Amino acid sequence: MSAVETIHVDGVWRAAASNAQREVLDPADAKTLAVVAEGGVADTDAAVAAARRAFDAGSWPRTPVAERAALLRRVADLLQRDREAIALIESRDTGKTLEEGRVDVDDVTNAFRYFADLALNEGGGRVVDAGSPEIHSVVVHEPVGVCALITPWNYPLLQASWKIAPALVAGNTFVIKPSEITPLSTVHLMKLLVEAGLPTGVGNVVTGTGDPVGARLAEHPDVDLVSFTGGLASGTKVMQAAAPTVKKVALELGGKNPNVVFADACATDEGFDTAVDQALNAAFIHSGQVCSAGARLIIEEPVRDRFVAELARRAERIKLGRGTEPGVECGPLVSAAQLAKTEAYVASALAEGAVLRCGGARPEPSETRPATGYFYSPTVLDLCHGEMRVVREETFGPILTVETFHTEDEAVALANDTEYGLAGAVWTADAGRARRVAGRMRHGTVWINDYHPYLPQAEWGGFGKSGIGRELGPSGLDEYREAKHVYQNLAPRPVRWFKG
Ligand code: NAD
Repeated sequence: MSAVETIHVDGVWRAAASNAQREVLDPADAKTLAVVAEGGVADTDAAVAAARRAFDAGSWPRTPVAERAALLRRVADLLQRDREAIALIESRDTGKTLEEGRVDVDDVTNAFRYFADLALNEGGGRVVDAGSPEIHSVVVHEPVGVCALITPWNYPLLQASWKIAPALVAGNTFVIKPSEITPLSTVHLMKLLVEAGLPTGVGNVVTGTGDPVGARLAEHPDVDLVSFTGGLASGTKVMQAAAPTVKKVALELGGKNPNVVFADACATDEGFDTAVDQALNAAFIHSGQVCSAGARLIIEEPVRDRFVAELARRAERIKLGRGTEPGVECGPLVSAAQLAKTEAYVASALAEGAVLRCGGARPEPSETRPATGYFYSPTVLDLCHGEMRVVREETFGPILTVETFHTEDEAVALANDTEYGLAGAVWTADAGRARRVAGRMRHGTVWINDYHPYLPQAEWGGFGKSGIGRELGPSGLDEYREAKHVYQNLAPRPVRWFKG
């Protein structure tokens, strides 16, 4: 495969029909990391046609589940074989640390294995009691058809796997469009799918931008389902484009996630240290470019000043640099646009009265931090409130805002005061309060005395404008299936509704 042949259609790697190319940049120094094909409408249409033919031919949808699951398992093994290489690709493409890249590969491996097991263990449909021994009634699942999968740049491989693994094991065919900013690991994953024996046309990749490639996928009449992970603005467009053809739409969008800390969680030194440490991790891992980032610290007033001071002290010590350098704890932002957005949010917060406790600027360049890289220091903004843009909107950068509460009701109200509803956490030593608050939080995932872990067995997705549908867990497989009720009358006779 030459450098620009990153489009995979009908089993063939090729350049864009227009021969257009795009440079993929290393965010640590803004230098060219790779050159990829810049697909267009013609490439997208060719990929959809290939996926349509592969689906309609019927061989993959009718392949026994055990064989489809076995393919997923082979992919999982290949991911582990290439673990270091893929972690490096992901680290250099997104800026995240190499260690984060390795964790991503392991999570992706687990997702492939989970969906293989889930589909295998399920058995063949659900018998429904129709109230008569003369009726045999069963609900079975069938693949939806051709799936368009559109993914973001923050977890390119992970987001691809949460879609590809259930889509394939359910018997669908797909076209995936990775983010134009970080397409490299998806291209590698497609190579592994081919190596694992995925039949021609079942999986296709088009590298290119949201418009035209993503937009064409969302509107395409031969696409049956579009599963999109990305921002609210693009998700809204995808849903609109999909409406005229009434295709199924799954959306995993942003979040503005509350991390609620009660003073009793900090009553002991150990509790205080844990809550601070996890608040730091919640907000700043991957420089805050995480859909579930705990970007809003909502803290009980008596402990606020001490907590924020310690948080700022530790945030200042986070080692920023190129993600592949040993000892680096946080990489750069992914792009110049993301850096500019972060700077603008901090400026608007300060203009609206927030108080800067640390960060708020680009760090000095160093040996591991080239001046041309998109680095920004972890930033803590104190004395924030819900009218500020920085509190309402997803910044997707290393910015932590601090809001204060005095009562449990106030804590819940602040936690829910967002149009999003993806994830959040509550920290308290009081088990009853933990359950009460978690029960009232309108978010798809709620952590109690923890932040960030997720399990492939548990659904992931959002309330409100964080999306539609769920990934992972049994619901994550159901997204890719149609339920069909087959009702068989074993003793048919006339119904005589009409008497003539
Ligand atoms: P984005 O919306 O800019 O892009 C996401 C993908 O959509 C890219 O592949 C892009 O090319 C494509 N796209 C853009 N416009 C499109 C259009 N009109 N039609 C079809 N496709 C289009 O998002 P991003 O900046 O890449 O990613 C960051 C966002 O993703 C954040 O909001 C984050 O919260 C969200 N995200 C959510 C989850 C989740 O699980 N809920 C996970 C990761 C990221």
